[in-house]
Amino acid sequence: EGMTIFELAKRTGASIRSLQEIIANVGERVLSEFDPLSIDIAELVSMEVGVNVRRLHLDEGAVLQPRPAVVTVMGHVDHGKTSLLDALRQTSVAAKEAGGITQHLGAFVVDMPSGSLITFLDTPGHAAFSAMRARGAAVTDIVVLVVAADDGVMQQTLEAMSHAQAAGVPIVVAINKCDKPAADPERVKMQLGAEGLLLEDLGGDVQVVEVSAKSKVGLDKLEEALLLQAEMMDLKSRIDGPAQAYVVEARLDRGRGPLATAIVKSGTLICGQYIVAGAEWGRIRAIRDMLGMTTTSGKPAMPVEIEGLKGLPMAGDDVVVVNTEERARMLSHGRKKKLEKDRLLKASEERTENEDISEESEKTPLRVELPIVVKADVQGTVQAVTDALRSLNNTQVFVNVIHVGVGSISQSDVDLAQACGACIVGFNVPTPPSSLALAANHASIKIVLHRVIYHLLEEIGNLIVEKAPGTF
Ligand code: GDP
Repeated sequence: EGMTIFELAKRTGASIRSLQEIIANVGERVLSEFDPLSIDIAELVSMEVGVNVRRLHLDEGAVLQPRPAVVTVMGHVDHGKTSLLDALRQTSVAAKEAGGITQHLGAFVVDMPSGSLITFLDTPGHAAFSAMRARGAAVTDIVVLVVAADDGVMQQTLEAMSHAQAAGVPIVVAINKCDKPAADPERVKMQLGAEGLLLEDLGGDVQVVEVSAKSKVGLDKLEEALLLQAEMMDLKSRIDGPAQAYVVEARLDRGRGPLATAIVKSGTLICGQYIVAGAEWGRIRAIRDMLGMTTTSGKPAMPVEIEGLKGLPMAGDDVVVVNTEERARMLSHGRKKKLEKDRLLKASEERTENEDISEESEKTPLRVELPIVVKADVQGTVQAVTDALRSLNNTQVFVNVIHVGVGSISQSDVDLAQACGACIVGFNVPTPPSSLALAANHASIKIVLHRVIYHLLEEIGNLIVEKAPGTF
């Protein structure tokens, strides 16, 4: 007979309350935490928790094998992200085998002469990256930070840097447009160094490669750098057993119905299996590789197109395999109900916040983290505000300034805050436009605007007291 909720909580690190909630969501009666669950339900719940809490990967004792890295390209607008992806795609397996013609799948794989593979996500920019992270999808292993050699470091370069750093994803810098007469790669390196990026040239471990997407120079060097970075990270996955995957793109095909491109994180996806992708479910009718060829299975870090879902999942949604149609329906139903519930909860910001607090304190009673994005009018103020906020740190509170910048609060700040569960502090900056304020409000992101440090500290102090009563 199956495990108890108590035991499941111990094994997964999830709270008993959250487990009970999941069980209720799939339509089961909530038992006492010491009553055994049926094996069906235990599996369903642990799967749900494994995905949500990202701790139970069922990989304990499993054989892990090396897998390719999954890479995302980020950087300032017009610095050549799309061009670079296009150029890299031309060196991909698909392009080689299909005579240069590739279909857009949302991801492609490049094979190196050594036989090693690199998977690139085909959606540039940090909006996609944050959207995925907001859903908890840690798909990207490495970020390629594209900086134009003539323009140098710009606002979105810094934002991309912050996104990658907040996610703990290592960066490889590609200085692009090196074919241009005005190119000054050395200046770019100085700028990045000044921003605190520990470049290889300056004794750090962040690799820098000079490229030109236009003249297709340095692409091989970039691929080698990525391979080296991947080797250092020693990326491994379980190959056998049920797959866990992430949706990177989904579209509706008139003949074939919903099609989702997914990247397998661990295990092997097999045609015919029942899956749940986000809140949608289905039975895999066909799996296609990046050449559009039908295949029977999908392995870690490989993008595959899945046919057979009943509806369209979203980018960043997780895909899990379940044993029966009934369970697939149940899990999908449970997730849909949860989505609906979350939506209602968000409508009343106040209540959502309280929920977060009680859940958080259950898991980590020790140190409360308060992630903050800081925007201010001038560089000097940014530093002063950041220092002042950090002065609030003590043994129980960790004020984590995840991104700082000069200027008005932007959509990208809101995206980052959402991805990290952060609040935004604006000091001496204009009140954000109502559309942005609305978006932040909708995402339950607090925006704190002040012109006096003392007042700012007072409000943040209050926030901390709310989050961690008894701190001050
Ligand atoms: P994105 O906004 O970062 O995706 O940038 P794009 O890839 O759209 O490129 C912006 C512009 O820069 C386009 O006009 C490209 O043709 C040009 N561009 C991109 N890469 C290079 C390069 O290596 N050299 C030169 N000279 N131009 C480039």
